[in-house]
This record gives sequence, C-alpha cells and structure tokens, in this order.
Amino acid sequence: MAVEGRTHKPVVDVERCSFCAACMEACPAEIMPEMRQEIDSMRGKIFSDMDMQVHLKEEDILPLPKCQNACPISQDVRGYIRLIARKQYKEALELIRAANPLPSICGYVCHHPCESACVRGNLDEALSIRSLKRFAAAAATPSLMPVKPVASINKKITIIGSGPAGLAAAYELAKTGYTVEIIESYHRPGGLLAWGIPEFRLPRDILQKDIDFITQTGVDIRTGIEFGKDITLFDLEKTGTDAVIIATGTQKGLKLELENENSYEGYSECLQFLRSISDGMKIEPGQQVIVVGGGNAAIDSARSALKQGAAKVCLIYRRGPMEMPADKEEVKAALSEGVDIKFFTMPLSFITKDNRITGLHCVKTELKDPDGQGRLRPVQIEGSKFIMQADMVISAVGQKADHETLKNGLGLHGTKLVTDTDTLATNLPNVFAAGDFAQGSSTVVEAMADGKKAAKKVHEFLSGSK
Ligand SMILES: Cc1cc2nc3c(=O)[nH]c(=O)nc-3n(C[C@H](O)[C@H](O)[C@H](O)COP(=O)(O)OP(=O)(O)OC[C@H]3O[C@@H](n4cnc5c(N)ncnc54)[C@H](O)[C@@H]3O)c2cc1C
Repeated sequence: MAVEGRTHKPVVDVERCSFCAACMEACPAEIMPEMRQEIDSMRGKIFSDMDMQVHLKEEDILPLPKCQNACPISQDVRGYIRLIARKQYKEALELIRAANPLPSICGYVCHHPCESACVRGNLDEALSIRSLKRFAAAAATPSLMPVKPVASINKKITIIGSGPAGLAAAYELAKTGYTVEIIESYHRPGGLLAWGIPEFRLPRDILQKDIDFITQTGVDIRTGIEFGKDITLFDLEKTGTDAVIIATGTQKGLKLELENENSYEGYSECLQFLRSISDGMKIEPGQQVIVVGGGNAAIDSARSALKQGAAKVCLIYRRGPMEMPADKEEVKAALSEGVDIKFFTMPLSFITKDNRITGLHCVKTELKDPDGQGRLRPVQIEGSKFIMQADMVISAVGQKADHETLKNGLGLHGTKLVTDTDTLATNLPNVFAAGDFAQGSSTVVEAMADGKKAAKKVHEFLSGSK
C-alpha cells in the first residue's frame, strides 16, 4: 500500500499511490462513503493538515480517481470494481446504473477513456474496466427492479431521437417524475446502436436489454415517426408537450469531394451501407472493396464488406496509424480478419466503365504544414500516384447533422443549432438540443453525458430552479 505510518500520522507516497482507495477502506475514519470525496474528509485532511507528514503536492491531487475523472459520466469505477470483487454483482450494477443508463451497451462498445487513464497501466496493463462492466450487466440485469420515479410531475417532455443521448435524457427525466416520450424515425429504437454499429460488435438483444430497462421506468418510445415530416413542433405543443430535446444525431455522411461522386454504381456512403445490412438487405459488394476513412465507421464498413462476401477489402487512410481515430481493438480485429490497411493514402478520382466503378486513382501522402490547431496536414507526395482496382467504394470520412428539422422554426447559430453550449438551449425557449446533433460526431458515452446534461437543463427550465 502507498500509505504507511501510525494511524495518526499517515504518510502518502505519491510515487506509489494508484488511487485504489485501499487506505481509505482500512481507515476507520473513512467508513462513511459520502466522506470520501469531501474536502474535510480524512483524505482531504491528509492533504492539508500540516501536522501530518505528507509528500503529496497539491497539483498531484485529483478530486476523483483518474479513471472516474476521465469518464464523461463520471462512473465510480473504483466502487463497482470493488463490489464485483466481493461478488456483489447486483450492487455493482446498481452503482453503475446510478450514472449510466446503458451499462450493457457500454460493456460492449464504450471507447473506455477510463482504461486509457487507468494508473495500473503505468505498471503493466490497464484494468479491463469495460469487460468488468459487461460482466456485471450480464450477471445482474435480470435481478434488477425497474427504477421508480422520485415524484410525479404533471409535465410532458418529448425527445426526438432514440440514440444514447435521447435515451439518457429520457431516463433521467422519467426518474425525476416527468411524463416522457421519444419520437424515433427508424422502426427500431437505439440510434446508431440499432443500425450503425454492426450486430457482430453489439448484439441486438444486449441493446434491447438496456432499452427495456428504460421503458420500464415509464418512457414511451414511438418509432416510425419522422420529426419535421410526420410531426412538427406545433403538433407537439398542441398535444401538451412542455419541452422538447432534439437528439437526432449526425446522419448525413460527408462526401469524399471527388467528381461525380454520387452518380456511379458501386459507390456507397457508410451509414447507408451499414443500415442496409442491418435491415437484412442482400448486399453484393463484388470482389474488391475500398473503404475510405479512419474511424470506427470505416473499420465497421470494412469488416462488414468482408462478411458480405467481398474477397478483398482495403481501407485507405490519409494519415498514419498513430493518427487513426478508430479504437485499437477494432483495428486489430479488422487486420486479423484480413482487412488490408493502407496508411498515408488518399483517393483522387474514380475510374469507371459504363457508369460503374472499376477503381480509384490514389496518391501517397505525408504529414506536414500544421493547420490552425497545430495538427499536421496530409499533403500529396509528387509522383506517387497509383491505381487501385475496386468493384465498390465506401466513403466513411465522417458525418454531420441533418438540419431539415430547422423547418420547424429552429434557427442556426453559426453552424450549430445550440445557441449556448452551457444551457444546450436553441433559439426557441422550450427547445433544447443534445448529443451528436448538438456537439458533432462523438461517442456513445459522450452522447449520453450530453443527454443527461440536457435533462438537467430542461428540469431547471421547467421547475424554475435556475
Ligand atoms: C459505424 C459507427 C460505429 C461507431 N462505433 C462506436 C463505438 O464503437 N463506440 C462509441 O462510443 N461510439 C461509436 N460510434 C459513435 C456513436 O454511435 C455516436 O456518437 C452516438 O450513437 C451518438 O448518439 P446520439 O444519440 O447523439 O445520436 P444517434 O445515435 O445518431 O441517434 C439519433 C437518432 O435520431 C433519429 N432521428 C434522426 N432524425 C430524426 C427525425 N427527423 N425524427 C425522428 N428521429 C430522428 C435517428 O434515426 C437515430 O435513431 C460509432 C458511430 C458509427 C457511425
């Protein structure tokens, strides 16, 4: 342990402290959990009492352990790992659920910033925090009772979009006591989790488990209704909605910006490609597929193309492996399945025959000339052009929000709908925006954090508490 000395004179050795909290557990003054993170707790006193022999510098002290600090929804990782170690799986899942309405899903696909921050990684390997969450969710979900609202508030909130942002907002508001409905245009709830992330990475029964828990708190999910087309803000107000949260994500694929991009057979945008597979449509990708991009969506498209029967799938990315945003585990899985990755490569133009794609003109790149944020730019290397054969080209270079909903009277503030990133307010007083739609493409846990924040802002707005 990193703490030594007699009870009244503890010594914290900062070099060895890994915020495991074993000292706090052993210390009788720390048995009250609520004391642990308080400034005047024993831990706080250890840091400040001059009588004590302390080697910690102020800048070394974090209000929370690093794993918890790195998590957008501040999961008490230390707490639930300890409960799992004691075989208290139900309590572990209850603790996880207190901050995270989608624990089963996160056990599969969270990008786990907690593990990147885990101090155990300095010694050997980070703890497998995501797998432990997955284990707790699998072991204890059947024994968990639905959460009862703490009050009954005679106000209705409509959330547009049932992705992680919308689901998290709905769960928080239902727990608080509001009547909550979600309007979803797709025929199944879950957002990108239901049709973007492939089933081989996120089984649909796992998604359903978390959604069932949320609907059991009283959230009503209405699918197959498109906001802006089938229903408007005006309709919602007429049926008694007091506040609206728009959480429609980023559903529009960015273009490769190549000539005649959309007009050739054999071209697909990744979300359309993944959605067709999720809908059970028969896809014939041909023998050779090129995927352009470097994120999880690109990796998912490449792996899906192989599973759809392509003989050869090559992913091209204009930067290097260090810059690639896709999760390392996903890249490893793609390579092991046979996906070829060509780094420092970008497409220049399509090669076609009879309006069908037969290949791509490509060029090698190098990183130089930093942009405004200091990020090195991929620049073409002169004389390095080459040709790649392809029956299908999938573009996976990012997504943006579809602002069709603006027809409803919402206005843009610069390029964003949200006028205030703190309040998540739009130009209409009772309309808020959250998740990827408001902040740009992110991750499941970041979208959830934003959804929870939107719920808090709506509650403050409706209750006049701020
Ligand atoms: C292929 C792919 C793989 C990914 N992999 C990972 C991963 O492994 N880990 C990770 O953390 N993140 C991953 N992400 C990112 C993550 O999925 C998103 O950041 C997250 O889903 C965003 O949540 P959201 O609720 O803001 O929006 P979304 O999940 O996009 O949900 C928005 C919902 O709104 C609905 N909607 C849209 N317009 C309307 C309308 N007009 N009316 C009614 N409903 C509407 C949509 O149908 C959708 O259900 C991945 C993304 C992609 C594309």
